Amino acid sequence: MARQLYTARLTRRLLLSERAACFHLEFTIDGMERFDFEPGQFISAVAHDPTGKQQTRAYSIASAPRANQFDICVNRVEGGFFSNLLCDLEVGQSLEFHGPHGLFLLRAPLTDSIFIATGTGIAPMRGFVEHLFPDNGEDRSQGRKFWLVYGTRHESELYYEDYFERIAATRRNFFYYKTLSRPQNGWLGRHGYVQEFVGQIAGEHASVQDPRPVQGAVYDIHAYICGLNEMVSANRECLTTIGWQRKQIIFERYD
Ligand SMILES: Cc1cc2nc3c(=O)[nH]c(=O)nc-3n(C[C@H](O)[C@H](O)[C@H](O)COP(=O)(O)OP(=O)(O)OC[C@H]3O[C@@H](n4cnc5c(N)ncnc54)[C@H](O)[C@@H]3O)c2cc1C
Repeated sequence: MARQLYTARLTRRLLLSERAACFHLEFTIDGMERFDFEPGQFISAVAHDPTGKQQTRAYSIASAPRANQFDICVNRVEGGFFSNLLCDLEVGQSLEFHGPHGLFLLRAPLTDSIFIATGTGIAPMRGFVEHLFPDNGEDRSQGRKFWLVYGTRHESELYYEDYFERIAATRRNFFYYKTLSRPQNGWLGRHGYVQEFVGQIAGEHASVQDPRPVQGAVYDIHAYICGLNEMVSANRECLTTIGWQRKQIIFERYD
């Protein structure tokens, strides 16, 4: 059965990083009042390539639900068809897509959680954080703690840094750990791969837990991992090695 295709118009385009050629793109959907999706889901963008073949690519939604709009965050891949089409899209131009799709969703009941991302894997995390800590001051975090561990090679590739810094500064239960794998001279922050800090946070969390879990609560912490397969695997391994169960680890792979 053919999937229902929607048309979205680009309303805003921001260069997030010149070095990585990464763009933040905001869309409004034609003829729809409300685009219902769960934070963390993705859309499937559809277009015909120069040979006339239909191409489909997934892009995580980088925002919480907001009327008939959604944001995405796209890295230009050298020689890639769809990423270049999106990065070259101009305000007013349109995109066809179907969705929302995907099961990379916050689990209920909400628990303390570690959000782990590299590169554009930050997109669904921005959706989670916008949902949990909306800009109108509401708080949907239910008092749980959320750590965002975000890794990139260079400082200029820390997408949405100002946004996450602001949330960390204003919400007592949101913590932002950024780490660079190839810092330039002068970087005074964390240095290394995300899994090094994930192990540390998970270890500290375990040491402050009440050994008697609340009745009915199966898991008291989850990890949500998003990015390229190599990083996702490294973090899953890091957590299972220290005793985490597979159900506690939710992940989305981009490749
Ligand atoms: C669930 C899901 C969500 C995704 N969300 C995002 C997102 O939010 N932002 C985003 O930028 N991408 C995201 N991706 C990746 C995206 O779907 C495309 O794969 C990516 O944009 C490249 O498509 P392309 O048509 O430009 O390249 P293609 O024409 O498909 O590939 C060209 C070449 O680039 C290589 N390549 C493909 N993807 C990548 C990559 N990610 N990095 C480096 N090399 C690559 C291929 O192996 C190939 O050699 C997501 C993927 C999945 C599965």
